[in-house]
Amino acid sequence: MALRLAELHPETDWRYVCTPTGDELPDVLLHWAKLECLLGKPLEKVTHKLDLNQLIAEMNALPSWRMRWCTRMLKIETAIAWYAKNAPCVAYVGLRADEPERQGGIFGDSVEQRYPMREWGWGLADVQRYLAERGVMIPKRTDCARCPYQRLGDWWELWKEYPDYYASAEAQEAEVGHTFRSDGRDTWPADLKGLRLRFERGEVPRGVELNGDLFGKVEACRACSL
Ligand code: SF4
Repeated sequence: MALRLAELHPETDWRYVCTPTGDELPDVLLHWAKLECLLGKPLEKVTHKLDLNQLIAEMNALPSWRMRWCTRMLKIETAIAWYAKNAPCVAYVGLRADEPERQGGIFGDSVEQRYPMREWGWGLADVQRYLAERGVMIPKRTDCARCPYQRLGDWWELWKEYPDYYASAEAQEAEVGHTFRSDGRDTWPADLKGLRLRFERGEVPRGVELNGDLFGKVEACRACSL
């Protein structure tokens, strides 16, 4: 949405805003850097004063499907505060035409909200086609590394590809005495230590390979590397 708006209205002094949690995987940071190259402007990182891991330590609590304080504190409340400070303004929200059930943020009367992709009638296929034309690859995961909503296969890939992230999440479970995953979600252990022991024995959750080729690795920005 941001790329297309910049193309359609180059005369506008756009501000590009995102709300990092500090637990993004390296591919996401690379993706943002590439977007900054293409947009010719930095993304404004709107953050809480503590990142996700600092909040876990301070509150001695993990985010879970029962307590999704992470989204509220790190994304919704920070965005509301940013818009309140910058109002009146227009918030352009990247929701597509084929996901009418999703709603944008609630930023108050002084912030008009627009949904350009819905105005253009863009569904998922249109977005994918547009990004492919511009050489933009969406990272396989854009959620937090230790997001409690990730699938079992994502935990396996985190353990395999980012063992340091996995180890720090496992240490947080030991520290706090709870688990990111919920009991009964599948037949695997809920805790990351138990999962790791199974992974280390060579057990691979079903579906991991199936996920693999739906997305691609993010490529470095060619413009920046020149
Ligand atoms: S991606 Fe997951 S952990 Fe991160 S803020 Fe959203 S729900 Fe919380």
